[in-house]
Amino acid sequence: MITISGQTVHKRTAIGRLQYLSKTHPELLRVPAGDPQAELAAFRKAKAEVVGRLHELYRESVSKVGELLAHTFEIHAMMVEDEAYSGMVESMIGAEKVTAAYAVAATGRHYAQMLAQMEDPYFRSRSEDITEITERLTDVLLGNRHEVTLTEPVILMAEDLAPGETMQLDHSRILGIVTHLGSESSHAAILARTMNLPAITGIAISDAWDGHEAVLDGENGLLIVDPDAETKASYEAKIQRKMREEEELRALLPLPCETKSGVKVPLLANVGSVADAAAAAEKGAEGIGLLRTEFLCLAGEDYPTEEQQLETYKSVLAAMQGKPVTIRTFDLGADKRAAYMNLPKENNPDLGFRAIRISLAEEEPFRAQLRAILRAGAFGKVSVMFPMITAEWELRRIDALFREESERLAAAGIPTGDIQKGIMIETPAAAIICDRLMPYVDFVSIGTNDLTQYLLAADRSNSFVTPYYDPHHEAVMRTIASVVRTAHEHGVSVCVCGELAADTTATEELLRLGVDAFSAAPNAMLPLKRKIRECE
Ligand code: PEP
Ligand code: MG
Repeated sequence: MITISGQTVHKRTAIGRLQYLSKTHPELLRVPAGDPQAELAAFRKAKAEVVGRLHELYRESVSKVGELLAHTFEIHAMMVEDEAYSGMVESMIGAEKVTAAYAVAATGRHYAQMLAQMEDPYFRSRSEDITEITERLTDVLLGNRHEVTLTEPVILMAEDLAPGETMQLDHSRILGIVTHLGSESSHAAILARTMNLPAITGIAISDAWDGHEAVLDGENGLLIVDPDAETKASYEAKIQRKMREEEELRALLPLPCETKSGVKVPLLANVGSVADAAAAAEKGAEGIGLLRTEFLCLAGEDYPTEEQQLETYKSVLAAMQGKPVTIRTFDLGADKRAAYMNLPKENNPDLGFRAIRISLAEEEPFRAQLRAILRAGAFGKVSVMFPMITAEWELRRIDALFREESERLAAAGIPTGDIQKGIMIETPAAAIICDRLMPYVDFVSIGTNDLTQYLLAADRSNSFVTPYYDPHHEAVMRTIASVVRTAHEHGVSVCVCGELAADTTATEELLRLGVDAFSAAPNAMLPLKRKIRECE
């Protein structure tokens, strides 16, 4: 029995046979091409085949992981067709008389290295994409096949898995994923979580383990190869316990979310994609309390258009089958940025150009988003919510823009819905002047993640101050109490949508303070419902 320690990607456990996915791409030799014209033709044919396959993968993946993540394949198709990339390949074939496969590999290496050295994390992550499309092209040119066909459920191990490869996996035959490279926050990791696959990374893989039995302990980031009988039995018992617990939770699905004394508490979901919305509907969400739309902005080369957004919002509404959806406008800035946004470098990004501040400064993308939200309202119950509000003037400006776009759509005869408006209370300023802000809104949602970091002066992503970042701190609880009191005096309902909403040790107190609704990640919803049903 060997135990190797890595990092958790998705905290689930699997037991099964290991299958090694060989992805060796041998260094291509610079051999002269016999006929450059034939190489050019081969490149163009491979390009068309890869683009066709990518479109096909996009269509297949939408139902597996949702439009937002599947969109990666469309971006890859655009990259394959990119003129600079193709131009460099074609001019190498023409001028240096090399094979198409060599020209593709050399071009891919050039762009991947260039991007990998960039400071901006957005460009650095694009380097992986270039490598992925380059490998697709060389595989076609050389007749290699790396797409896995699995005949029995296995734990897949690979040096690295590209996002596209992860999405392509036959979900019903994969018990888990073990990789050497990658990180907890890589695209492939997000996908593994979305697909609910046990996964770990940081494991120095050995092909000698191919076919061996193993335990993938996603909870503790461990791979145990050839487990002894005792270890295997203890993990089997753990999986059984987990399954029983999941079954118990599923039994709660048809029951109402209410306290023992019969107070109904709407249980809403926090989602960032269509796939999340589908997961939320499965977990019995009564609506979406927070749709994080900024993820729409991070995958592409520009802000998503009004039409693209409308399609996504409609898909989320469809996944929720008539239940209400609260769309939060882009919460960009800080760690959520893309190169095309040209955001400034800041010493204190969390105190800087973020969220509504960007929306009010970059009016065009904001207006397009408001129009998409207004139009989505014609297809279901839609509310809009604005992040990181600190002052009344912001709400006056938002109201003016909202009115202008609404009138513009009406004048063009484009149908819109009746949209409720709300704000996130996630800055101390908004909490303190809550009474001033209430006349502008129909509801508020308390973002305890940011509210905690700003109230306690403790960066939410800085591990040095973790002991100071305490959402249970009396200052946070008193602030929530005061917001609830003021909002209720104005007839405004209060939801909590930060991570504290999912923390069942806080549920009783939040209910006692008068919080009306909870919005939490889909996986947290049923444990939360169980807790609410136990409260007086
Ligand atoms: C919050 O700040 O609590 C919140 C829900 O927003 P986000 O985590 O997206 O900043
Ligand atoms: Mg926030």
